[in-house]
Amino acid sequence: TQFSDLKLDPKVLQAITEAGYTTPTPIQAGAIPPALEGRDVLGIAQTGTGKTASFTLPMITLLGRGRARARMPRSLVLCPTRELAAQVAENFDIYAKHTRLTKALLIGGVSMRDQEMLINRGVDVLIATPGRLLDHFERGNLLLQGVQIMVVDEADRMLDMGFIPDIERIFQLTPFTRQTLFFSATMAPEIERITDTFLHAPERIEV
Ligand code: AMP
Repeated sequence: TQFSDLKLDPKVLQAITEAGYTTPTPIQAGAIPPALEGRDVLGIAQTGTGKTASFTLPMITLLGRGRARARMPRSLVLCPTRELAAQVAENFDIYAKHTRLTKALLIGGVSMRDQEMLINRGVDVLIATPGRLLDHFERGNLLLQGVQIMVVDEADRMLDMGFIPDIERIFQLTPFTRQTLFFSATMAPEIERITDTFLHAPERIEV
């Protein structure tokens, strides 16, 4: 498989060509086609396998030309740590550079007020740690009923850090019709329970 076979937005293809990628990694070749068909994906993959692009590239393609409304993100990416969220945001900027999609990074250690102003202006993608996302939700800064795509990255680390109740709460606050792209390095019973409950007939890809 080549990236050009994957039905990605031409603007995304241009960005990955400029980034010097030629061939999709196994998780990318497995996850991108079902994600582009609108299916839920359960990806079992470690860091370093190219999993960030396996959810970011289809997400950018699916969000397409739609426009964000104030306080209503169209997509969420949940990460266990600030560092990981910041890395995902850097990747998003590279892959989305030829589009007009916007993002905000919601992590601790940065002023709530600045983040609130960004959300209020309207962003397509929120890249967040679960606690910070819920802080904004509780303050009424954010509405989650416009979420079309929700990504959970490194679910096994979310479990280790005690974030599973936050993740369940966020699932319950987003529309039942959302598309979910869910990634974990391992499948503990607690993770299996979450995916059984909240994913709809996911395509499972293990690399
Ligand atoms: P990740 O597992 O998402 O953290 O990605 C690991 C590294 O591989 C990152 O530095 C990416 O920029 C790079 N990468 C991801 N996909 C590809 C690809 N298809 N070809 C070359 N490099 C890639």
